[in-house]
Amino acid sequence: MQELVLVGGGHSHALALRSLALQSVTGVRTTLVSPARHTPYSGMLPGLVAGHYRFEESHIDLLRLCRWAGVRFVAGRVVALDPQARRLTLRDGSAIAYDVVSIDIGSQPELDAVPGARQHAVPVKPVAGLWQRWQAVYARLQAQPAGARDYRIAVVGGGAGGVELAMAMAARLAGRGVRVALWCAGPVILQGYNACARRAVQRALARLEVAVQVDARVARVRPGSLLLADGRGADYDELFWCTGAAAAPWVAASGLRTDASGFLQVRDTLQTVDDDRVFAAGDIAAQVAHPRPKAGVYAVRQAPVLTHNLRAALLGEPLREYRPQRSFLSLVSLGGKRATAARGPCSATGAWVWRWKDRIDRAFMARFTDLPAGPVRDRAL
Ligand SMILES: Cc1cc2nc3c(=O)[nH]c(=O)nc-3n(C[C@H](O)[C@H](O)[C@H](O)COP(=O)(O)OP(=O)(O)OC[C@H]3O[C@@H](n4cnc5c(N)ncnc54)[C@H](O)[C@@H]3O)c2cc1C
Repeated sequence: MQELVLVGGGHSHALALRSLALQSVTGVRTTLVSPARHTPYSGMLPGLVAGHYRFEESHIDLLRLCRWAGVRFVAGRVVALDPQARRLTLRDGSAIAYDVVSIDIGSQPELDAVPGARQHAVPVKPVAGLWQRWQAVYARLQAQPAGARDYRIAVVGGGAGGVELAMAMAARLAGRGVRVALWCAGPVILQGYNACARRAVQRALARLEVAVQVDARVARVRPGSLLLADGRGADYDELFWCTGAAAAPWVAASGLRTDASGFLQVRDTLQTVDDDRVFAAGDIAAQVAHPRPKAGVYAVRQAPVLTHNLRAALLGEPLREYRPQRSFLSLVSLGGKRATAARGPCSATGAWVWRWKDRIDRAFMARFTDLPAGPVRDRAL
């Protein structure tokens, strides 16, 4: 029996689980290690905060998926990888041996670059922490008596994630005496987006009265206040952190080669540059020949190649290569049921864009809820 271990239930692995079940490999036991039963689908995260989706609609139930796929589910968090011994260590001290391992653990906002951020800010990931805190904030503000002083929510990070989160919060709390501010280190929000899309998003932010601060690099966080690099300061009641991605430190500690930010360097086969038995996909992987920004869309597109190559590695068959697209369609939700679509120089905004995005997102989630009935392994495909 060969052991295939999938670490993390990110977008690539959720899709891989589905495909591996449909084409199981005889003599292979597959295990998924995940700290939680549910994993969020990032496209629906702002809609969850805005109240458009329920938790179950925006999260993949990994345990159910594993049971359906005939995959062993281990609830735990990997904290070390030893490529020589082919062994993973979990936080509870237990170990899991592997013949082939794949890592899809995502990334988290960079908290350590700014003193005080780790202690006082709520990072957007892990999403479980964000969701818990947001529910508490929302419950408190709903109960806030009329005429109470304005409650100040600060969101740090001017990329798509931060912008969507700020608008989702502002839309959900409209009329409740809440002021939302978005702090962006660069000269513009949504760097890399075309000017037309950016203007549409800026109008939406203004409509929701989100105070956008550009050229505002946060240099220090204190309880209740931010200090900017240029000496300015601002007060907050709740602080959410949504800046550039950082990698889990145990990945670089494995000795496998990583990029300067600690992300695992992989070849086009999604194997690490050092070890044919270790694969990586999604945010945690840095494809050496084709560097790309961190986005769920790449994790999704990598899944078919990853699945093929995991099977091929176990069977000793030829591997395929993944060539990421240069650009992708970005759909930015604008708090309410409106969205902006952008790709290259093109953009469009409106309620119909939100409905389009909603259809895409629900179709993605349906792949994990509408599972074929019956024991998959017995079906001839
Ligand atoms: C608000 C927001 C909105 C976004 N919207 C979009 C969007 O519309 N489109 C888009 O393309 N991108 C979007 N992104 C980016 C997107 O979230 C990431 O690029 C995407 O989630 C990466 O997917 P992944 O498969 O790498 O990992 P993830 O989806 O992050 O999943 C990682 C999984 O691994 C688990 N895990 C973590 N550490 C361990 C460990 N040590 N052991 C075991 N398991 C572990 C986690 O619990 C999680 O289940 C958004 C991001 C944010 C913050």
